[in-house]
Order: sequence, then structure tokens, then C-alpha cells
Amino acid sequence: MTEMILLKQGEMVLKGTNRYTFEDKMRANIARRLKHLGKFKVYTRQSTTYVEPQSEDCDMDAAYEAMKHVFGVVGLSRAKACEKTKEAMLETAKSYLGDQLSRAKTFKVESKRADKTFPMTSIALSQWVGGELDDLYPNLTVDVHNPELTVHLEVRDYAAFVHADPEPGAGGLPVGTSGRALSMLSGGIDSPVASWMMAKRGVALEMIHFYSYPYTSPEAKQKVLDLAQLLTPWTGRLTVHVVPFTHIQEELRRSCPEDYFTLLMRRFMMRIAEGVAHRTGCHAIVTGESLGQVASQTMDAMAVTGAVTDLPVFRPLVGMDKEEVVRLSRKIGTFETSILPYEDCCTVFTPRHPRTRPRLEDVEAIEAPLDIDGLVKEALEGIERVQLG
Ligand code: ATP
Ligand code: MG
Repeated sequence: MTEMILLKQGEMVLKGTNRYTFEDKMRANIARRLKHLGKFKVYTRQSTTYVEPQSEDCDMDAAYEAMKHVFGVVGLSRAKACEKTKEAMLETAKSYLGDQLSRAKTFKVESKRADKTFPMTSIALSQWVGGELDDLYPNLTVDVHNPELTVHLEVRDYAAFVHADPEPGAGGLPVGTSGRALSMLSGGIDSPVASWMMAKRGVALEMIHFYSYPYTSPEAKQKVLDLAQLLTPWTGRLTVHVVPFTHIQEELRRSCPEDYFTLLMRRFMMRIAEGVAHRTGCHAIVTGESLGQVASQTMDAMAVTGAVTDLPVFRPLVGMDKEEVVRLSRKIGTFETSILPYEDCCTVFTPRHPRTRPRLEDVEAIEAPLDIDGLVKEALEGIERVQLG
């Protein structure tokens, strides 16, 4: 083993004795992401998780990329192993971090010693290697307070490791440590970002998508599955529950005033989502709504929509501007797919003058003649489940 990956944990460190549950979960998530990339050993010491390849054919580049998507990791770096002597550590720093050493203007060396039998103190080791590097690279001066580059040396039981500063990791909490929720995934920009934000806080997700064939095309459905697939490096495996929604929409169009249409549709989505949540062990519903973005996302509209379920409805984008959502969607890699021009089931039936200040009594009165339970049951029975990841 010549190289390995070091992962720094974030907030989990603050969890007291629960911390071990968080660490176990994170290691299990890591192991699952590495399964196809070779045989690795994953273990944690002092809030650092070590990912060690166990054979020559491990794909280290892909493993490092995969680790950038693991929630719970605040920083990550690749480290090179060498013999436990000061000379070997110096040689390894020169060969492994040569590029960075030639480019930087200021630097320092920081050493950690897990192996207490190592003959030098951490400070003496840092000083010796730092002094040598300072002599070798005329571009470098030592700055212990605010260096551009820090060369890290770690003397562990079986080897020493050399690495540069960690890159920022995905942050958040390991997926699966905050319960399970059902996320309403449309083909738009917002809902993939909302899903990502909940996964970041440690929520394991199931996805639900409402599909209005033939008003929306098979390509529109495929686009949503593609979006879910793009989320799996962050969320782990996903099940998308694809709900046939056409009959409900036709019933509403036939019998309800147009200005309430979106609201009524969203109430049906919520009821069906609640049904799926109960069947799949989800304890909350997630949407990509943002306050005031469209008529159905005013405070009153959200209240009317949320009134059909007792489950908490999480709207992680509620206080965000579109621009901020777009930036996040580019960062997580869903933007280009989200903007593909396929119709959504909501856009097909959008009223010209939607209600922005609906009253619950009015909405309930309009719904009264409908066979709500029958329509929800029919939709639930028609669900198709697609596994991704
Ligand atoms: P998005 O960009 O996520 O599509 P949007 O700004 O277009 O959101 P709406 O169409 O009003 O907003 O939808 C609000 C939220 O309702 C979405 O973010 C999503 O969570 C949910 N939603 C809307 N349409 C569907 C659908 N066809 N299937 C599943 N969920 C949906
Ligand atoms: Mg939409």
C-alpha cells in the first residue's frame, strides 16, 4: 500500500457518545461507494477516517472522487505512505508534493505522531523536514501562521504518511443518521436541490414522481429518473415511486374551478405521498418549494397544501432565491439535466389566474364531491417502482 485517502469528520465529532453511531454509518456508506472500485480497508482513529487500498488494482482516482460525495466528511486528502524515517518522509514530500512545493510562496510542516516510539518529537520532525525543504526550494519561505501550503507528516504504527492540505468535503451528516423521508421529485431545478439538502443533513431518501402520460412524454419521466440517478453518488441507492397522475388531473379539470387547479393537484400529491411514506417507513415529506416563487408557493397556499397530511413537510429551499438554487444545482451536477425542455405534469395544467390566498374552507368545499379516497387508492395501486444507484 503506497497511497491512501484521509477523511476529516465534521459535526459528528460533537455528538458525544452517539458519535460512534455516526461513524459506523459513515463507514458503511463509504464501503458501499467503494464496492466497485477494489478492495479497501476503512477505519476511524481520532476523528479521521482512513481509506486504505488492499490491492494493486484499486481505482484510487475514482475512490477519491467518490469520497467527495460522502456526507459527514468536511475535508479530504490523498496521502502517500513511506518508511518511518525522517529522510524517507522528506523524499516522499519532494516527490509527492513537488508541484505544490515549487509553486507555493509560503509553507510550513506539521507533524503528528501516533507511534510514540518514533525517536523524534513532532516539533523536531517538522523543523528538520521544514528546514530541508526551505533550503531545497528557493521560492519557499516558512510562515507558521498563514502558510499557502502545509505539508502534513503523520507517523503511524506501520508507516508514515505525507499529504498536503485537505480539500473541502461534502460536509453535513452521514446519510441515514437523521431518519428517512420521501422527496417529491419533479423535473425542475428545485426539487433535486431540495433532496440533496436533506440528504446532506443525514436523511435517507425515497423519491416520488407524479407522471401524467400522455400529457407528459416518456422522455419527461426518463429525465426525472436521470435526475435521481445523478443524486445517487450523494444519497446512495434510491427508489423512485412513479405515480400515474393523469386520472386525478382529468377529474379535477372536469369538476373544479380552474383557479384552484394547482392547489387541488398539490393536495392530491401530498395525500399520495403520505400513503407512500407510510408504506416505506418515511417520517417526513420533502418539496422544492420556495416562498413566493409561484402562486402555489405563498404562505397560504403552502398551509392549504400541507393541511392534508400530519407528516412534517420539509421545504429546505423556502428561504432561498432562484439564483442561489441554480448555483447549488450546478455544483451538485443536476442543472444541465433539469433545464432540458420536457414538460412537467404541473405545467400542462397550469391555470391562467391561480389563487394566491386560498382559504382552506373554500378548498375543502370544492373537493367535497370528489371521491378522494378512491382516487388516491387508484393512484397508489398504479405505482411503478424504479431502483437506481
Ligand atoms: P421544481 O423546480 O422542483 O420543479 P417548481 O419551482 O417548478 O419546482 P412547482 O412545480 O410548483 O415548483 O412544484 C413545487 C414542488 O412540488 C417541487 O419542487 C416538487 O417538490 C413538487 N412537485 C411538483 N411537480 C411534481 C411532480 N410531477 N412529481 C413530484 N413532485 C412534484
Ligand atoms: Mg416544477
